[in-house]
Amino acid sequence: MCCDVKRRFLLLYATQKGQAKAIAEEICQQAGAHGLEADMHCMSEMDKYNLETEKDPVVIVISTTGTGDPPDTARKFVKKIQDTTLPPDHFAHLQYGLLGLGDSEYTFFCNGGKTVDRRLQELGAQHFYDTGLADDCVGLELVVDPWIDGLWLALKEAFLLQKEKEGMSSDVDAVSSSLSAAPHVVHELNLSSEVQNLKLEDGGVRNSDVLTQKLVDISLVASAGDTEPSLVHSVPPVSQSALNIPALPPEYIEVQFQDTHGENPHLSSLISEGTTFEVPVTKAVQLTSEDAVKTALLLELDITDTAFDYQPGDAFCVICPNNVSEVEELLQILGLSEKGDYFICVKVKQGTKKKGATHPQHIPERSTLKFILTWCLELRAIPKKAFLRALVECTSDAGEKRRLQELCSRQGASDYTRFIRESNVCLLDLLHAFPSCKPSLNLLIEHLPKLQARSYSVSSSNSYQPGKLCFVFNIVEFPACPTRAVARKGVCTGWLAELVAPLLHPNKNIPDTKGGNPSTEKVCIFARLNNTFHLPGDPSVPFMMVGPGTGISPFIGFLQHRQKLREEHTDWEFGETWLFFGCRHQHRDYLFKQLKCFLENGTLTHLKVCFSRDSSTAEVAPPKYVQDAIRLYAKEVARVLLKERGYFYVCGDKKHMADGVSDAVVDIISMEMKVDKLEAMKILATLREAKRYLQDVWS
Ligand code: FAD
Repeated sequence: MCCDVKRRFLLLYATQKGQAKAIAEEICQQAGAHGLEADMHCMSEMDKYNLETEKDPVVIVISTTGTGDPPDTARKFVKKIQDTTLPPDHFAHLQYGLLGLGDSEYTFFCNGGKTVDRRLQELGAQHFYDTGLADDCVGLELVVDPWIDGLWLALKEAFLLQKEKEGMSSDVDAVSSSLSAAPHVVHELNLSSEVQNLKLEDGGVRNSDVLTQKLVDISLVASAGDTEPSLVHSVPPVSQSALNIPALPPEYIEVQFQDTHGENPHLSSLISEGTTFEVPVTKAVQLTSEDAVKTALLLELDITDTAFDYQPGDAFCVICPNNVSEVEELLQILGLSEKGDYFICVKVKQGTKKKGATHPQHIPERSTLKFILTWCLELRAIPKKAFLRALVECTSDAGEKRRLQELCSRQGASDYTRFIRESNVCLLDLLHAFPSCKPSLNLLIEHLPKLQARSYSVSSSNSYQPGKLCFVFNIVEFPACPTRAVARKGVCTGWLAELVAPLLHPNKNIPDTKGGNPSTEKVCIFARLNNTFHLPGDPSVPFMMVGPGTGISPFIGFLQHRQKLREEHTDWEFGETWLFFGCRHQHRDYLFKQLKCFLENGTLTHLKVCFSRDSSTAEVAPPKYVQDAIRLYAKEVARVLLKERGYFYVCGDKKHMADGVSDAVVDIISMEMKVDKLEAMKILATLREAKRYLQDVWS
């Protein structure tokens, strides 16, 4: 066997927001240094690979979306392997390793990966490497980095096994002789090609340029007199450590400036998920009082002249731009303030070393620079380590350079988590903290992810309010802090709040920045597919709704719809309805006091409201949170859910509320059915499976 021939493996990725793709690209990139060749494809490109005949090892990187679903790009693949007529040895020839991505704050952590993994096992495929499950909640890299490190040896062993199976003794000899040194080779490659080892000699003897740079940094830290680490300062051991930093990702984008003539693409061209609709905002109401902790707004959109349709419980997406002043500030830092209105042509760099480099789908081939920074790139994204690594090369100050190296190094992993990830640092924060860092535009296009449209639950019923679509949101606020000089608002909610300010305060003379009639403000929306969060098909079935805070939003749509049905079908039988709502203060953030009307006209049978921050003089303290209120009605919950085969809906904050509610329901099942907790959890899992316990939760 010729030593130059690289061994091929099949690399499949299924991505929703680009993370699985970026990780697959990283694997592809590293493969070459290990004498391997990744044949990389998106899982949806089913004409480009064939698992039925695949002989080489397969590596799968797959994320999870929605409530435990595989990404849209994996749907066809999953459907195909879930064919129940496939025999149990269908994939007996297949060796694979799988890396699942997920977020443990969601109930079905990494379920996309787990589903594929389980099914491949059922069909006889073998693991050549243990499955990795990476958690975005604590940092994907904690699992991803070591998983990729271990992959290379596992792949080489898989090749060896494959050859042995094929009985090709001569090849086996060749492979095994290369493999006998495999652990060593892998180690060497780690040091030479993936990692720059910046050494600091014992005793601080200056004997290299690298060392000089290190000492400069130490003196900077020392002169600052800081004993505590921060985004810009490090302390021992990190500040004195030799660093293992990732390989520099090859550049692959080329940007050409043109002229100022032409038109930017329509926003619809940025969306691949379906048809977009540009609709006017016809009403904006502030649902909270001025002294509430959070500000909740209700917006009404007019969808009369569109083909946009929805059912109560559906969610939809709003295409939002980045903050205007952040775009201006970035242009200024890049030294491109004068060029914002110039059209630029974005191309893949000729002869780039990046494997499988393609034009990023979210970047138009031709548009103005401002358009790209405003509508295409998530400027607020938390910079990944690969991005920090690339920024090192654009930083002239030695101390700043070293700190950036530390932040992307193995040794600086906990500093990265603390000062970048947990502090929600974005590119602009970094550029302020490291003023000698002057990245090029192409680098930003390469490393900043797509600006995602934000989802919102519909808070109305089309039959109750024909031609209208309402939704409710809290304006997300991030106060100023050591890493963020100015307070910021959420990208979408901050923009929407600004957009509707003239509608909200018509008498306050708020300047209309666009100079037009405030009521003509429009937003671009599109439908969010695959929702099961709908009313029971049979109106006689009882159901319970749990929606504290803005989680109440879809239930207003449910109740409006139900009221309309009751008016139109007086002879129908309607099941009982329960709503558990909670907020901080009765007089500040009780979003929909008109819930009482639903109660009075019989649409809502039971309304249970709790206030977590109001003090009470009652002898027995009232429940604070919705989960406490649910426990008070244990018998009714068990009756509706278990005896009467009713539905249970939970909507709102995934971090604090959704788990509390499901814990309460598990306890209720356990108590009322006299089964242990494990059995109760199984019953809840069955209810989820039967889509009678439904969640619509977000952070
Ligand atoms: P972003 O700028 O995207 O920030 C959002 C989050 O990012 C923060 O909550 C925080 O966790 C983190 N973050 C970013 N920067 C920082 C920082 N500097 N400091 C600290 N944290 C930071 N929301 C509603 O209000 N109502 C709804 O009805 C609703 N329905 C939804 C339905 C679905 C199916 C989904 C998936 C989400 C839903 N959401 C809803 C959430 C909504 O999509 C948005 O995430 C939310 O409005 C915030 O968007 P934003 O762009 O304003 O905030």
